[in-house]
Amino acid sequence: MEESLARKLICEVGNLMYDRSYVVSSDGNISIRLDENRVLATPTMTCKGRMTEDCLAVTDIDGKPLTDKRASSELAMHLLIYKERPDVKAVCHAHPPHGTAFAVAGLAIDKPILSEVILTLGCVPLTDYGTPSTNELTEAMKPYVKHHNALLMANHGAVAYGDDLWQAFDRLETLEHTAKIAILSRMLGGSRNLSPDAIEKLINVRQSAGYLDESARCQACGYLHETNLSCPTGDRPKPNAYSSSANGSGKVSLSREELVELLSQAARLNDS
Ligand SMILES: [Zn+2]
Repeated sequence: MEESLARKLICEVGNLMYDRSYVVSSDGNISIRLDENRVLATPTMTCKGRMTEDCLAVTDIDGKPLTDKRASSELAMHLLIYKERPDVKAVCHAHPPHGTAFAVAGLAIDKPILSEVILTLGCVPLTDYGTPSTNELTEAMKPYVKHHNALLMANHGAVAYGDDLWQAFDRLETLEHTAKIAILSRMLGGSRNLSPDAIEKLINVRQSAGYLDESARCQACGYLHETNLSCPTGDRPKPNAYSSSANGSGKVSLSREELVELLSQAARLNDS
């Protein structure tokens, strides 16, 4: 992509992220893959609502600076995604409040509650906690990047990516909107999941329409648990403890420790 246009786009999307409170202060970061070996990224310690086109940093695909501007310390997350996904040309990382609330509560956004989200975004897994700006974070994300277009990072925030920056931003927006609807529906007494049959049809539609291909059918996808569809890929990450603990059928699986903790909580309630 042409660099001057990419600079303009990053500032525009940064402004939008800030206006929508997906980031505050100097949170978050955005990047665009300019060509095979160059990445344009937001600078370190800069508010996304006050960026100028000349403040952005250019690095190579390993993060080596190619200008005198320093890229965000979280650039490694973006570089991991570019390496794992040759199709991805842009990445948005932010701390949108509803999506991040899921990440803080230890929950994936993987309940089949909205038909269009199944079609366009797919489920959003929760990756284990890793210290920001270290390879703990990128190691935790790595198994999920191939099969999803957005991830939640435990006790941190969200990242979304796509063919271009607008698609990455749209995915981040869908993630946040879905999380907000999920929280609101819980306040109204709980959400009703789509039926396994409806989920299967949506997954088939999204594949034939080319929204998301078979690679999105990884077993970390909470939607699949209810259907007869299976994951075509070998290197499937295991769904994490939180996202697999409850799903659409109302079935709940708990580890021994979780069960003991639950029973002792109930006993304490009875005592009080
Ligand atoms: Zn962050």
